[in-house]
Amino acid sequence: MDFTFVSGNPALDLTGTVRSRRDAPLDLLATPADLARWVTECDDLPDQADADPATFEAALSLREAIYQLALDRVLGQPFTPPSLKVVNTTAAAPTLTPTLSDTGLRLTGDLPAVLTHIARSAIAVLADPRSHLKECGRTDCTRLYLDRSRGARRNWCGMEECGNRVKAAAYRARKRPPPNP
Ligand SMILES: [Zn+2]
Repeated sequence: MDFTFVSGNPALDLTGTVRSRRDAPLDLLATPADLARWVTECDDLPDQADADPATFEAALSLREAIYQLALDRVLGQPFTPPSLKVVNTTAAAPTLTPTLSDTGLRLTGDLPAVLTHIARSAIAVLADPRSHLKECGRTDCTRLYLDRSRGARRNWCGMEECGNRVKAAAYRARKRPPPNP
């Protein structure tokens, strides 16, 4: 399955690599190579990454910690302490190096530095009281995203994957003939 980057933040996009978290979780990061591919495909991260097994495990625990904190935020409850510890510890390590050129910003560094960058992105989003952090309105999706739309009226992680599906299902439900008495 292809990765999608619709959450508006690399840390939230990382949590989206587990689909349908509540009912039938599907983890798209099964191997270190999957993680390396995800980093490469994410626009906000370096163009290449090597993932060893230990860093892969660290990435998965960071991902789950970010998910828990983001969910805490969505539900309006205090942050879960062990998850805070994982994110804060990861954020304290050396991070990516930014380089400015006429083509814009380029970030370089190894995978541990990528994880630090992701942890810091998570902190920036979760600490900002103005960020509209939401869970997708399609029940099975469970993806978290930043709603940056005017008036924060966005209901889906993405129209293509979820919005259109929900609308089509509602349309079919309306067209269905009423059951015979
Ligand atoms: Zn969705």
